[in-house]
Amino acid sequence: MAYIQIVIVGAGIAGLATAISISQKAKHEILILESSPVLTEAGAGVQINASASRLLSNWGLKEHFEAVATRPDFLEIRRYADNELLGLIPSNVKRYSERVRGSPHWLVHRVDYQRILADAAIANGVKIRFGQKVANIDIENVKIMLADGSTVRADLIIGADGIHSRVRRSIPALTEYVPRKTENFCYRALIPRENMMHNAATRSLIDIRNQQAWAGQDTHIVAYPIANGKLYNMVMMVPNQGEAPLAKYNEPGDVVEMRKVFKDYNDTVKAVLDAVDSCAKWTIAELPPLPTWSSENGRVVLVGDACHAMSPHAASGATASLEDAEILGLCLATWQNVEDLPRASTEYEHLRKPRCERVQEISRENGTTFSMPDGPAQRARDQAFRAQRIALEKQLAEDAPLVVPEEDMTKQYPHPSVVQWLVGHNITEEAQAYLRRRS
Ligand SMILES: Cc1cc2nc3c(=O)[nH]c(=O)nc-3n(C[C@H](O)[C@H](O)[C@H](O)COP(=O)(O)OP(=O)(O)OC[C@H]3O[C@@H](n4cnc5c(N)ncnc54)[C@H](O)[C@@H]3O)c2cc1C
Repeated sequence: MAYIQIVIVGAGIAGLATAISISQKAKHEILILESSPVLTEAGAGVQINASASRLLSNWGLKEHFEAVATRPDFLEIRRYADNELLGLIPSNVKRYSERVRGSPHWLVHRVDYQRILADAAIANGVKIRFGQKVANIDIENVKIMLADGSTVRADLIIGADGIHSRVRRSIPALTEYVPRKTENFCYRALIPRENMMHNAATRSLIDIRNQQAWAGQDTHIVAYPIANGKLYNMVMMVPNQGEAPLAKYNEPGDVVEMRKVFKDYNDTVKAVLDAVDSCAKWTIAELPPLPTWSSENGRVVLVGDACHAMSPHAASGATASLEDAEILGLCLATWQNVEDLPRASTEYEHLRKPRCERVQEISRENGTTFSMPDGPAQRARDQAFRAQRIALEKQLAEDAPLVVPEEDMTKQYPHPSVVQWLVGHNITEEAQAYLRRRS
């Protein structure tokens, strides 16, 4: 068997996960080119839902993540003005996520996430070269031109270079597709534990280890503890007014301005905001659905935010990147020769694109659900949240057997059927069955 040479552009979550998945399923040679001089994930939190934790566990990384992850019982959905508990989405209470969705729900620090993936990739024989900025791709000759003037040849180039992807722009059918502004900009803050300890309400938020979503008028906040309770992570969504950089995650924001935006929120939120020392601020961007995720010759293919960057309201972009990694790995293990690469790319795209496009839509819809102005629609939403919470609390109190909801991607989040489709669906089994039929 002639194994192929694969070059992955980008050592973010998508690039590293793709390297791990491929290296575990086939013996191809893998090199990652990363423009930064070192690993550079943002200092912030990330949710690893059951779909992602299932894949990470299958790749042998469960213990590594369990060592650094927070395991919340619930996502608590609260009203912005008075902190009323409206809804409860179960995560690990009574092992809910494992029993219903097949795997746990974790909250982690991005820096830990990237470090664990990088260590695993290297342990699997993947080479990573830092400080290698890709300037262009010669698709016909499958050649990478670096900013320093050198070139690298490959059999397959995988673009995992994020929302502003250079690799994507080198594919003729995709040159016109650029990130577009969404209706939101976002503040992000990471609060040290000691700042949360001065006030009983903030102390309890970092200690109870649940996630919070405060649904406000045109704004909302998602927050949770990470790094074994050493840090409290907050993401605050605001309607897009004024200028903030597009999808640049580390641009500094103004803390005083941020507090003013949330002045109508309850005292608990205000106390948390008072504990913030610094924040980042940027305009949330997404990609429109693309006509293709690969070059016509099948030798350049995209994964992660490079092909499906989405707004963060479903906390699913990194999960989707892991799913890409899993499926591309399965395709490249099924079709291992250079001449079969167009087939592998086509089947990968067939398996991934429709699901990702619906996840992008759900992310967009959620932005609206959690940011409704006061009025009848908001009251109806809150009533639905309350009814769902009461039913869940009854089920948990009675210790009734947990019912696995039907998967239905057409429902509106947080309907249990769409949550089940989003995080409970076993994409590996689905892809394996499909690939058996097709190969
Ligand atoms: C506020 C917010 C909260 C989020 N929360 C969640 C969540 O809770 N759960 C979840 O699943 N997802 C979440 N996401 C989405 C998730 O962060 C992204 O989908 C994911 O990190 C994308 O990873 P990536 O590897 O595709 O891209 P990136 O992280 O952007 O990585 C791209 C890599 O490529 C490198 N690179 C770029 N250009 C070049 C070049 N020319 N040459 C060489 N290297 C290059 C970069 O340096 C970088 O290392 C959130 C997103 C935001 C904005």
